[in-house]
Amino acid sequence: MDSKILTVMKDHVLELGPAPSSGPYRHFKLTRDEDGIAWLLFDREGSSANTLSTEVLEEFSQILIALENERPTGLVIRSAKRSGFIAGADINEFRGLSDTALVEQQLGRGHDILNRLENLKLPTVAVIHGFCLGGGLEVVLACNMRIAIDGARFGFPEVLLGLHPGFGGTARATHLFSPVEAMTMMLTGKNVDARKAKALGLVDAVTQERHVRNAVKDAIFGRLKRNRSKLPVVMNLGPVRGLLASRMRKEAAKKAPQENYPAPYALIDLWEKHGGNRAQMLAAEMPSFAKLMVGQAAQNLIRVFFLRDEMKKLAGGRSTIKHVHVIGAGAMGGDIASWCAHQGLRVTLADMQPAAIAGAMKRAADLFSKITRNRVGQRDELDRLIPDMTGEGAKHADLIIEAVPEKLQLKQSIYAGLEKVMKPEAILATNTSSIPLEELRTSLQRPERLLGIHFFNPVSRLQLVEVISHDQVDREALASAMKFVGGIDRLPLPVKSSPGFLVNRALMPYLMEALLMLDEKVDKLTIDEAAEKFGMPMGPIELADQVGLDICLAVGDELRAKLGDSIPATPEWLREKVAKGELGRKSGRGFYEWKDGRVQKGHAHVQPTPDMIDRLVLPMSNVCVACLREGIVDNPDTVDGAMIFGTGYAPFRGGPLNYARERGPENVANALAALAAKYGERFKPDAGWATFR
Ligand code: NAD
Repeated sequence: MDSKILTVMKDHVLELGPAPSSGPYRHFKLTRDEDGIAWLLFDREGSSANTLSTEVLEEFSQILIALENERPTGLVIRSAKRSGFIAGADINEFRGLSDTALVEQQLGRGHDILNRLENLKLPTVAVIHGFCLGGGLEVVLACNMRIAIDGARFGFPEVLLGLHPGFGGTARATHLFSPVEAMTMMLTGKNVDARKAKALGLVDAVTQERHVRNAVKDAIFGRLKRNRSKLPVVMNLGPVRGLLASRMRKEAAKKAPQENYPAPYALIDLWEKHGGNRAQMLAAEMPSFAKLMVGQAAQNLIRVFFLRDEMKKLAGGRSTIKHVHVIGAGAMGGDIASWCAHQGLRVTLADMQPAAIAGAMKRAADLFSKITRNRVGQRDELDRLIPDMTGEGAKHADLIIEAVPEKLQLKQSIYAGLEKVMKPEAILATNTSSIPLEELRTSLQRPERLLGIHFFNPVSRLQLVEVISHDQVDREALASAMKFVGGIDRLPLPVKSSPGFLVNRALMPYLMEALLMLDEKVDKLTIDEAAEKFGMPMGPIELADQVGLDICLAVGDELRAKLGDSIPATPEWLREKVAKGELGRKSGRGFYEWKDGRVQKGHAHVQPTPDMIDRLVLPMSNVCVACLREGIVDNPDTVDGAMIFGTGYAPFRGGPLNYARERGPENVANALAALAAKYGERFKPDAGWATFR
């Protein structure tokens, strides 16, 4: 065989030292090579990725005790899983923790074990491929040396769960390489690749799989030059720390206030107070972590982490859809098409305007260049996305997604043409935001093939997709649509057809209330900041611009026609704005100016009041309770998940129902009643509050 092929193949096989025998351990294999080097291979039983559970750590501890007695020449730690090194702690063990002392005690055990690793009287080297995250990175930091395989990625994602590292990582990272870089990694949760890790001093060497044996020998026998940065010495000095910490606090405050997301601030405090003394920082990390862990933000974020898993499972299996035909290459259709092509499907994209298709192709190329690392992959994605001016693709597609403007008759006329050409087993899906399927289906010969696959904007960032059923839908088509959504890495929410389904029905009062506040002469920046203060990623005025004011108008009118006074009336001036072509982000101007897809806005001079926040957010909880009572959705957890993954609803609040539960359902119902008395019937608490727990 060609030697080049052999080399490539070798890079696909992990170098795991001498062949391991079964041995006494469940999650590890321990072997010894001809140089007396111990190879400790981590291979968590019954799992495709390595995570650190209590049981795993206890076994690791036993092994370290054995190694202290056996004294091999050196120790190599690596993962036997192709998926990577260690994906982090086992988050299952984080759920429902409420006892700070207990958490501290468990952390203490983890600290003892990693201290034992650090204090082994033999050279220790971690060999890292794939993902090395959270607790996994903390294990690596307790080794003397680190060798990364090209392509490895390192990160501390704890902050995304409202935490900071808890197994000594805060102290070890800030004392190994630039504390500013280490803190940035911990504060943002972003990964760095192997090359960046080398440049930082986080790893000593980067190599390829085929060189691992030699690299390990070099490391154990003192021939590997350690990559040690001098920066920690300087930057961990008291006055420098103080200065840097206050800068970090300012940056953190731009993203989220301390009362909402305490973790970044706790981490900055920890480093500012104890960064000058590694041992003290190690000790102080435990109570700081424990306090965060039992707090509401972390517990809600951990719940959201599992909600995502639950929603993924709703998809129910592998999708058989290979070819998707999208009609309407506008804001949504174009992005749906490019996302499907990115996910490996063949996509034909039709529109009556060549310019719309051209625009969508350009946006697709931009997206691929951002989210797909290699150029060959980007080219393949573009190859899969086929402009289709004649609509030929509709004849061959397994799934047709209609994303033309929100007009009943327009959509129906398109369906009439499609029914003549589509394959009998193909699914016809609409991306409508608000038109009930019972109306859309009236003109169809085969209404059972129609269902809703409702994406959110921007498609590549919002993971939720509502899958909408009606009482005549073909059950297999529905199941297939659920699988399709799972297959393109989105989270499906089954919803019964009704005006606005779940998410838009809940979101519309939020957007419309903001417009009423504008009429009351409240500054748009203050309105946005009210929602942001609550924890929304963007305020309702900016969101309206983002969604498109034409869409807001259409959906607002449609919902008000169906749902009556619970939806505030769309103001006349909005109609005029839309008529003038001020549509928001897509036209460059709406309530705000937009440049290159970015909003141009400053800060509010007037602070929002708690009353404003309640006016904006409580109606969302009210609608969610109503949708549950009406049976439009059936599971309160997935309702919370849908609002978080479909609208960005403050994740640390755990969703609108969880927020109501934490605030007290009675309190929320009373607050709504008080708002109704003050501002009008649209705030009337739903009957569902009486039984909501
Ligand atoms: P858009 O105006 O940006 O795009 C619609 C596209 O359809 C245009 O390119 C237009 O040329 C094309 N079109 C019009 N008539 C056509 C025809 N007969 N044949 C082929 N193409 C035709 O609209 P959009 O924002 O992408 O919305 C499309 C649908 O998606 C609507 O039903 C809307 O309610 C829904 N939706 C929108 C959003 C959002 O945030 N914008 C979110 C979810 C769902």
